[in-house]
Amino acid sequence: MSIAAATNKFMLEELLTNCRKNLSKPRLDLIEKAFDFASIAHENDTRASNEPYITHPFAVANILATEIPFDDVSVVCGLLHDVVEDNAEYTSDSIKKHFGEDISIIVDGLTKIKNLFKGADINQGENYRKLLMSISKDVRVIIVKFADRLHNMRTIEYLNPDKRKRVAKETLELYAPLAHRFGLGKLKWELEDLAFKELNKQAYEDIKKKINSKRQEREKYIQKFSEPLIQKLNEQNYKFEISGRPKHLYSIYKKMIKRHKPFEEIYDLFAFRIIIDTDDSSQCYHTLGFINQIYLPVPDRFKDYVAIPKSNNYQSIHTTVVGPDGILVEVQIRTRKMHEIAEQGVAAHWKYKEGKVAPERTIDGYVGWIRELLENTGGEDLRKSIIDNFKLNLYSDEIYIFTPKGELRRLPQKATPIDFAFEIHSKVGFHCLGAKVNQRIVPIDTVLQSGDQVEILTSKNQKPNKSWLKFVVTQKAKSEIKKFLNREEEIFVIQGKELFEKKIKKLKLVFNSDEVNKLANNAKYDNSRQLYKEIAQGKVNLDELLTVQTEKDDKKVFDVNLEFETFQNYARTTGGSLVVDGESSQMLYSYSKCCNPIPGDPVVGFVTVGEGVKIHRKNCKNLISILEKEPEKIQTIQWPKIESSSFIVALTIRGSDSPGILHEITNTIVTYKNTNIKSVNIDSKHSGFAGFISLYVTDLEHLQRIIDRLKKLKGVSHVARLESVIN
Ligand code: MN
Repeated sequence: MSIAAATNKFMLEELLTNCRKNLSKPRLDLIEKAFDFASIAHENDTRASNEPYITHPFAVANILATEIPFDDVSVVCGLLHDVVEDNAEYTSDSIKKHFGEDISIIVDGLTKIKNLFKGADINQGENYRKLLMSISKDVRVIIVKFADRLHNMRTIEYLNPDKRKRVAKETLELYAPLAHRFGLGKLKWELEDLAFKELNKQAYEDIKKKINSKRQEREKYIQKFSEPLIQKLNEQNYKFEISGRPKHLYSIYKKMIKRHKPFEEIYDLFAFRIIIDTDDSSQCYHTLGFINQIYLPVPDRFKDYVAIPKSNNYQSIHTTVVGPDGILVEVQIRTRKMHEIAEQGVAAHWKYKEGKVAPERTIDGYVGWIRELLENTGGEDLRKSIIDNFKLNLYSDEIYIFTPKGELRRLPQKATPIDFAFEIHSKVGFHCLGAKVNQRIVPIDTVLQSGDQVEILTSKNQKPNKSWLKFVVTQKAKSEIKKFLNREEEIFVIQGKELFEKKIKKLKLVFNSDEVNKLANNAKYDNSRQLYKEIAQGKVNLDELLTVQTEKDDKKVFDVNLEFETFQNYARTTGGSLVVDGESSQMLYSYSKCCNPIPGDPVVGFVTVGEGVKIHRKNCKNLISILEKEPEKIQTIQWPKIESSSFIVALTIRGSDSPGILHEITNTIVTYKNTNIKSVNIDSKHSGFAGFISLYVTDLEHLQRIIDRLKKLKGVSHVARLESVIN
């Protein structure tokens, strides 16, 4: 037998022994098969430490057989967890073929998680979502992943510095909080301390040194504190275990930071723990009584998590008493089962699954929690915020709130009546108007205190608004409010868009999405969505908005007045003499400023003294009053005929730009009765065009025909004869 083979045999024996000891009815042949399968798959690989690769899956499987003992399937998956990723020849299908569907699904989930975080920014909410999704298929995915991460953290010194930092950060930000949520207290502490050591080695070593330097002193104190208590409990024939341990380093560090205090001033550096070997939780209360007989309890520092477990199922009595020498000491009292649940969480529940457990404390309860988190998470914003909510809801201390009927609800600290309302039902949340806290009416943003009794006041007319997001703290309330606001906004956007499109269609305007955005920006809105929303809510005068816009556009391209003047001068000077009573006349004349007639308009002359004849349009308002007063001064005149009986006229034209549109316009004009074009001045503006065309027509009917034909062109939204703009 080769050394490698002998080593493998030794590892396998150790693993099987541990499984026999800690798991219920493990299928040892299945574990052996997985071990052999993994050994062959990793045959030629080594770890960063230069050890054969199989030592890693073995260690992971061994953690699953000893520290987080769950079941044989988890151990098998621990052995197989790196097989698919590291070896292209081993596929998900081959796992399924050899080990069945359940195991292949878990291994698949583990492979996906690995790929998810490979070199990726761990702050990506989407990755978290996917991670949770793979856990929700089978909770054992995360159990195995925890074991994998624990072993990787224990052997992190072999990795390069960059990778070490990344893995440690990810451990602290993601895996430790998740471990906490799954009730794996011991795992959480170890992960935190290992990551802490990587990320802030100096602080870690400093605290560690200080704790060690006081070890003797502390052990003496523990003895002094315990002695009378041990005596008392022995008198009662209790079977128990008592220990006084320093808290883990990272929690001490966090306390120093939070309280702005040096190590020396942190008094609760260690906690006493009394574990009673009994299924009778009343012994915990009796023990509390004995402690209080010996040491004075500190009021307000008592917590009963036995009667009211934390949402991760943690149970214990916490009390702080004044110990010998006036030192404050925290004591935790729990039964053996409570202890196992506190240390191994979800894994311990598996073990106790046969017993009577509240629904929320079963495996299904954990998986259900993940599903709920996922269901309440959708859309880009929400995905981005998932990590924040995640950490908040995983770590923050809980408060306990009672319904008017006395039912208990757990909420994170700083929760408000709105959070509580959403906890009861999203409909209650949506219509929450206020609340009665301990029978007194309070505003909806009141911060609730543990023990408050809360009655929610609702109104059909109430609905969530943006300001709620500033004070709610639960993931559920946040995502429900955001979902509601998004829905509401979407409806407004759709309505507003419809109104807008109807309007521009009526005005024959054409806008592409860029132009709508530009229009929105000009009107001081962030984007078209916001504009639509405001339109739907009746906050925008569409006529005004569109008029201002088109006028602005025209101005940008050309000066209308200037264009008109140029045209007018040209029109008036090209024709030669005016025609009076059918004959060319040399008389003095000028154009009246009130109606600004241009050649082609039906006109009459008004004979003045000194200024010759003033030419008015026939429909000029001023002319009507003149006609009444001095009808004799009116003279019939005609425009001079030029270019084979034609008048010159000008058109303004607008529309959306498209290839060949200019050609189409000119073509439409010239193909009608050989109409002559004098000039074309058309400019493109963003994706529309606007301009002037001057052309020769025989009469107004001729002009009207051309206008009608141009209006029918696709992309042309506006055609009109250019008349006076001075009036
Ligand atoms: Mn691994």
